[in-house]
Amino acid sequence: MSKFPPIVWVFLGALVIAQATWIFRDARLRRESYAWLWGLFGLINVPSSLIIYILVTRRGNVQCEQCHKSIPQESHVCPYCGKKKDE
Ligand SMILES: [Zn+2]
Repeated sequence: MSKFPPIVWVFLGALVIAQATWIFRDARLRRESYAWLWGLFGLINVPSSLIIYILVTRRGNVQCEQCHKSIPQESHVCPYCGKKKDE
């Protein structure tokens, strides 16, 4: 651990903050219910937090045309606003 020069830790710290910020903004844009929680999650680890976030949020989800919430691909009606999805 201590064999790394301080600049490496500064770099890693900046990377972690950039990652957390990106995840938080992306989660808020996608109207995820727990955007801030995702942001905190992004602070834990680089880059596995980012990989997990992308896998979880991108897996089989589509955006509702009406309320823009992320809904499961297989659902025919939006669980948030009740809009029927056109196939
Ligand atoms: Zn909707």
